[in-house]
Amino acid sequence: MSPETVLPILRSVTELRRIVADWRRDGLKVALVPTMGALHAGHMALVARGLELADRVIASVFVNPIQFGPNEDFSSYPRREAQDAALLTSNGAGALYAPSADVMYPEGFSTTISVGGVSEGLCGVTRPGHFSGVATVVTKLLLQALPDVALFGEKDYQQLQVIRRMASDLDIPVRIEGVPIVRETDGLALSSRNAYLSATERATAPLLYKTLQDVGARLIAGEDAVSATAWGKSEVLAGGFGSVDYLDLRDASSLKPLDSLDRPGRLLVAARLGRTRLIDNLGLLPR
Ligand code: AMP
Repeated sequence: MSPETVLPILRSVTELRRIVADWRRDGLKVALVPTMGALHAGHMALVARGLELADRVIASVFVNPIQFGPNEDFSSYPRREAQDAALLTSNGAGALYAPSADVMYPEGFSTTISVGGVSEGLCGVTRPGHFSGVATVVTKLLLQALPDVALFGEKDYQQLQVIRRMASDLDIPVRIEGVPIVRETDGLALSSRNAYLSATERATAPLLYKTLQDVGARLIAGEDAVSATAWGKSEVLAGGFGSVDYLDLRDASSLKPLDSLDRPGRLLVAARLGRTRLIDNLGLLPR
């Protein structure tokens, strides 16, 4: 789509299905990029990968109330649809699906998708109910759009594994594609929540990724996971983070805990900097 073209903004399931049906009739493949908006270059990497795998990309923007806990940032989460639409247009998306909460959860809505195993532990401990909120909304988005492929960032690595499990368990006929993390030049993973950081916190934030790299080097050198991650937690706390929810080595696909890097692993962290909770992760292969 050229930048002058107006991006269709779809508000209902009917409008969404109509545009997808039109494209399919023309023999086009369709990709879906689910987001909560406040879009940045990380989201655009998903759009770009979508355009490699399909002919048309629909981005959805929906700040999903049921994936936020009672004391989380649902009401303050940044909402800026006009900017999101402009960024999507200039990055080649074919439509923006931006339903209201009433469209997604009409009066009487009563169904929850809950995924065992990979949802437990890590963010599942500190954010109870979060992954069932994610799995429920993503199931709905996939069934509403029925895309050929749906793209999710490795930034939310546990979420990606939950969605893979859910789509496979429910036989949803869609390819789930993970996209590598897009980072600032100093290593901080791009996130809509980075906007919450003060200047001082922003200067501290890259320590999270640096620590993942340092802990990763220790694990690759043969150090056991308990001692390497304990060292990493103390580094993050000494560097100015207020608390660490977890810093764990897990199996890269099942997310089961690993004692050492004896198979492909994923190092995952969640830590709090002032009032902002940051997450990051790093893939590791044994030497
Ligand atoms: P969000 O809007 O934060 O819910 O994110 C929507 C999608 O974009 C999710 O699949 C995220 O994992 C992905 N995403 C967010 N930030 C990044 C990033 N820095 N790199 C890659 N993917 C990202």
